[in-house]
Amino acid sequence: MQEKKFVEVRSKWRLSKGPSGLIKAMMATASYMFKERPTTLYPFEKNKLPEAFRGLLTYDIDKCIGCGACVLACPNKCLYKVPGPKTEKNKPGIYIAFEPTHCLFCGLCVEACPPVSGSLSHSSLVSIVSSKEKIYWSPWEWAAISELIKEKGWEYDAIDYDKIEDLVKEKSEEVKRRIESKTLGGNK
Ligand code: SF4
Ligand code: SF4
Repeated sequence: MQEKKFVEVRSKWRLSKGPSGLIKAMMATASYMFKERPTTLYPFEKNKLPEAFRGLLTYDIDKCIGCGACVLACPNKCLYKVPGPKTEKNKPGIYIAFEPTHCLFCGLCVEACPPVSGSLSHSSLVSIVSSKEKIYWSPWEWAAISELIKEKGWEYDAIDYDKIEDLVKEKSEEVKRRIESKTLGGNK
């Protein structure tokens, strides 16, 4: 039965060959010469992503009010509350650590973050790659990488975290000092 089916399919395929099939194929190929190129020359060209694209999460630590709503909203438990300096903006002194390797890119934390803060947003980075199985960013590291994304103009791509880890750690010290300088009642 199977053999009969194979013979039927093969004979149909043979019918489509010959001069008319060849001409059709050449016409189809030629038509693409006058159409806009549907592919990009990666990595020299980057794909533009839809406006609502949910890329790697970024954290604006200066805007965070420490409400913890994002932690409650996260279905995958990859956000953590971490104590830090109490500031005029962040009175409870609660900051957010992030485990990007467990993030679902669902965006529920961004929706939960109150508009008065607007501390969380999605970048256009599609993912991070690393030799590490698990990555954990302290609030200062997460803020540092978020600031680097803007400063360096990283977009529409994946980040090789192994290559930038030292830079992130260095920048996170700067972020930490900046937040500490805002401590209510002076630097403690
Ligand atoms: S995008 Fe989703 S999974 Fe990722 S941290 Fe936010 S709520 Fe959690
Ligand atoms: S929901 Fe926004 S303001 Fe509240 S702790 Fe999370 S990041 Fe900070």
